[in-house]
Amino acid sequence: MNNQNNQYKKQIGIIGGTFDPIHYGHLIAASWARECLSLEKVIFMPAGTPPHKLKNNVLDPIHRYNMVLLAINDQPYFEVSSLEINRKGPSYTIDSARELTEKYREESTRILFIVGADSILELHTWKDYKKLLSKYYFIAVSREGYEKKQFYKRIEEIHNIYGKRIYNVEIPAIGISSTKLREMVKSNKSIRYLLPPSVEQYIKENSLYK
Ligand code: ATP
Ligand code: MG
Repeated sequence: MNNQNNQYKKQIGIIGGTFDPIHYGHLIAASWARECLSLEKVIFMPAGTPPHKLKNNVLDPIHRYNMVLLAINDQPYFEVSSLEINRKGPSYTIDSARELTEKYREESTRILFIVGADSILELHTWKDYKKLLSKYYFIAVSREGYEKKQFYKRIEEIHNIYGKRIYNVEIPAIGISSTKLREMVKSNKSIRYLLPPSVEQYIKENSLYK
């Protein structure tokens, strides 16, 4: 498949998530997607109010945003966006897709949403998912713990219905989730080597997830 559609001058990746907290799984996904698809940059977009998660169980967006900022600090190809944090109500990808398309229209930039295997399997529960799949582009990254067969089958099904709008990228399997990290902090287990030291430090200093 030709990675660079002629109609576009450049491509950028958007990785949305709760980032509660950000970890090496997110950073590897963003980095591999950037290299494989020759993306100019990847923008991390923390959700304000994630539609699929209970509001009270999610950390204040400011802390999640700050942790992303610390994690990407030394990587010139990574940025963070407060677009979803600043928008009222649940953070739907379709709303961000519309806003971002408008923002980058004049620079003829193609926007690709980077999502993990678990999100691909859940896409049909996202708001306006048919519109999302027929108008926008995705990069699906593999994720440890998720059946590869099912993942590829789902991508194939989406291609058959909506055309080839999903690129898949195989990343090194890294069995980390934010849920697991929160549990580890709560039970005083070390989270070292699973996320950037600066983020680990921030969690300690602000007594998060205790
Ligand atoms: P939680 O356990 O709170 O759901 P999470 O680790 O799944 O946290 P999210 O913020 O939900 O992190 O994920 C944002 C995006 O990153 C999703 O598309 C998800 O599939 C992807 N992702 C998260 N962790 C990994 C990983 N270890 N490998 C590949 N993709 C990942
Ligand atoms: Mg998740």
